[in-house]
Amino acid sequence: MPENCVFCKILSGELPASFIYQDDELVVFKDIRPKAAVHLLVVPRLHIKSLNEVQPTHGQLLNNMLMLLPKLAHEQGLDNGYRMVCNVGRGGGQEVDHLHFHLLGGEGRLPGF
Ligand code: AMP
Ligand code: ZN
Repeated sequence: MPENCVFCKILSGELPASFIYQDDELVVFKDIRPKAAVHLLVVPRLHIKSLNEVQPTHGQLLNNMLMLLPKLAHEQGLDNGYRMVCNVGRGGGQEVDHLHFHLLGGEGRLPGF
């Protein structure tokens, strides 16, 4: 496990989180500082630093991360729409260097960028 990776610590049970969804390659939990009424994080169990480090061998994993979003959104009642965000690098606002997708929505229309 990379040292000081918050999401690896959550995955190993060292830090608490309650998983809304989990399978053999992905977990989903609530963001600790929600930016919308619904704010979930879709996190692979495999430590990949960011989208920039994704390799062709990760194609199925990325596909599964993406395909999970509509299912989660429906389960969360986001039938009016939602937003997926993937911050990459410090300039892109990435704080946790472990690949993840944010799923945001709920309570009307999300603000624009
Ligand atoms: P990013 O800025 O894209 O790297 O997003 C990292 C997200 O992880 C932020 O929205 C944080 O609020 C969230 N976060 C950090 N630590 C935790 C934690 N222990 N449990 C849940 N979410 C966390
Ligand atoms: Zn990690």
